[in-house]
Amino acid sequence: MGLQDPKSGQGSSLSDLLGRLAGDLSQVRNPLANLLHHLNSLADLIDCKDLAFAAVAVDEDEELATPILSSRGTIEVDLDPFLRNPPSEPQYMSASGDLPLLLAPVLFGGQPIALLIGSRKQSSAPSPAVLDALASYGRIVAPTIERAMLRHRLAENERLLHARSMGEMRAVRAVKTANEMRREAEDKLLHAAFHDSLTGLPNRTLFMDRLAHALRRAARQERVVFAILCVGIDRFKVVNESLGHGAGDTLLREVADRLQQAVRPSDTLARLGGDVFTVLLEDIGGIGRANRVADRIQKSLGKAFILDDQEFFATSGIGIALSKGDLEAGELLRNAELALHRAKQRGRSEKEVFDLEMHSAAMALLELETDLRKGLSRKEFRVHYQPVYRLADGRLKGFEALVRWQHPRRGLLAPGAFLGVAEESGLIVQLGEWVLEESCRQLKSWTESHPAAADLSVAVNVSDRQIHRPELVSKVVSCIDASGLDRSRIALEITENLVMEHADRAQAVLRELNEGGLELHLDDFGTGYSSLSYLRRLPLNCLKIDRSFVFKIDNDREDMAVVQAIVMLAKSLGLAVIAEGIETKKQLEIVTSLGCEYGQGYYFDKPLPADEAEELIIDSSRS
Ligand code: C2E
Ligand code: CA
Ligand code: CA
Repeated sequence: MGLQDPKSGQGSSLSDLLGRLAGDLSQVRNPLANLLHHLNSLADLIDCKDLAFAAVAVDEDEELATPILSSRGTIEVDLDPFLRNPPSEPQYMSASGDLPLLLAPVLFGGQPIALLIGSRKQSSAPSPAVLDALASYGRIVAPTIERAMLRHRLAENERLLHARSMGEMRAVRAVKTANEMRREAEDKLLHAAFHDSLTGLPNRTLFMDRLAHALRRAARQERVVFAILCVGIDRFKVVNESLGHGAGDTLLREVADRLQQAVRPSDTLARLGGDVFTVLLEDIGGIGRANRVADRIQKSLGKAFILDDQEFFATSGIGIALSKGDLEAGELLRNAELALHRAKQRGRSEKEVFDLEMHSAAMALLELETDLRKGLSRKEFRVHYQPVYRLADGRLKGFEALVRWQHPRRGLLAPGAFLGVAEESGLIVQLGEWVLEESCRQLKSWTESHPAAADLSVAVNVSDRQIHRPELVSKVVSCIDASGLDRSRIALEITENLVMEHADRAQAVLRELNEGGLELHLDDFGTGYSSLSYLRRLPLNCLKIDRSFVFKIDNDREDMAVVQAIVMLAKSLGLAVIAEGIETKKQLEIVTSLGCEYGQGYYFDKPLPADEAEELIIDSSRS
């Protein structure tokens, strides 16, 4: 071939170069980075400044083609016909006007697996040497491309590389050190694309790729079982929130080390994100080894960590999923994640193996979530209003707004049927905003039509998720203001449990809401464990006694004592009390005698649709 090396001018032949490449490529750590590097050398060698390269791999199923490297950005030609029916010899095709493209097929095992594409500005035909070079080069890099494609077929990373290689290859004459620097940078870039920067472990991308690889291999054999373990640190959020992110990072790095020690070097360990790690156990006999590894991991993570010179004890949950190579990688990982979710729901230090029931439950939830999303946009939600009365004289005080879902197939649904999913999916934020808006609109409209509604108030429930949104207070305030209502006409109900679990956040939010002039109710009171001193610090207006106490009050002395204690506590703090869930006359009499000022419950009314609530307002003005 006798191509001259333009830099050294020493006549190093292409076959020499290819020989070096072959040696080099056989031990590459990073095929893509090297490929890019060698493409540069080749462009250099054949002394063609304007040469652009792209390697296009024909995917396994031969449908999808992905350009992985190009010195000219995206080459905008329709390669489909060529990929479906790759030319057996290098040939030219005319690309959209300007550049004639040279297509060199890369055959591997007789199959075209890639096309090398070269383009030159001069429209003159390429010399045989160039053609030769391309073809030979193609053969050499073919296995590399294949490996690269199989291992790194992820669009995101390809784009990264792509973006970097653009334009840079034109400067192929760059001095050696620049080349090396670039190579290093590319190495780093690739490493970053496939690894987690905090722990240095493979990331989700690389893990999925290894998993897919392992599954493909297993599909060809029988009786090979795989397991994926998903490991999550229980209550990791609390560590981050209480000890700070620095401590959280230290903990994660230490967890990564311990995990590494708990598995074999041949097992793939990765960090999926947050506090979730995953281990791929290949070729195990059955569930036995997976269970043993899980136990070992939990034991190892159960030992004290040192964070900020303090001992810290963590527990972990583990979800396990098995496959015989009959599942897709994504499916298998999802199963393990689902099992982890279950384990966490059960408590701390739990372990759960995925089963099919879990799958159908998850599917049902997913469906519900989809329906919920649609329901929101199709305006299928309603607000019902449960009247709250002043017990001394039976006068209407106001309403509690309770959301309902007019489901197209399942009829009118109470919140118990969908709030959990709304919380988990985050849709509760949107839903909660809507309930507030609708309640304000409704109360305003009643106020305008009925003088009797002038001093009624509406209480709206606030969920866990909402309290963590930084914009909660400003949204609430502007929503009420926009309706034209006085802010004191709207009360927000926050459960005691929520307030206790997120004490600092809740306190800050409540204070701002209170300063904004809203009423605040502590809901489901008696089910949490508020300390008196903590309660004293919260700017509350009212305690709502949980209905579980009221429910048994007529034949349970202890509950009566609890209610009495709550009423006394409330009085000492200057708070009003609402008894929830009054169902019988006797319950009403008892809570009244104990000094509760307000009450709501089926004894009076169920939550009512807006029109019925309106009739009640009209009636109340007559009596
Ligand atoms: P909650 O805030 O404790 O609301 C009171 C619940 O008790 C309501 O259930 C109400 O229908 C029910 N109830 C009222 N009186 C009686 C009674 O005498 N006997 C019995 N057995 N039950 C009574 P609902 O409407 O099913 O709501 C359940 C929970 O869902 C609410 O409990 C509240 O936590 C939540 N929720 C309802 N609407 C919303 C909303 O718009 N946003 C948020 N975040 N949560 C809501
Ligand atoms: Ca409530
Ligand atoms: Ca309640």
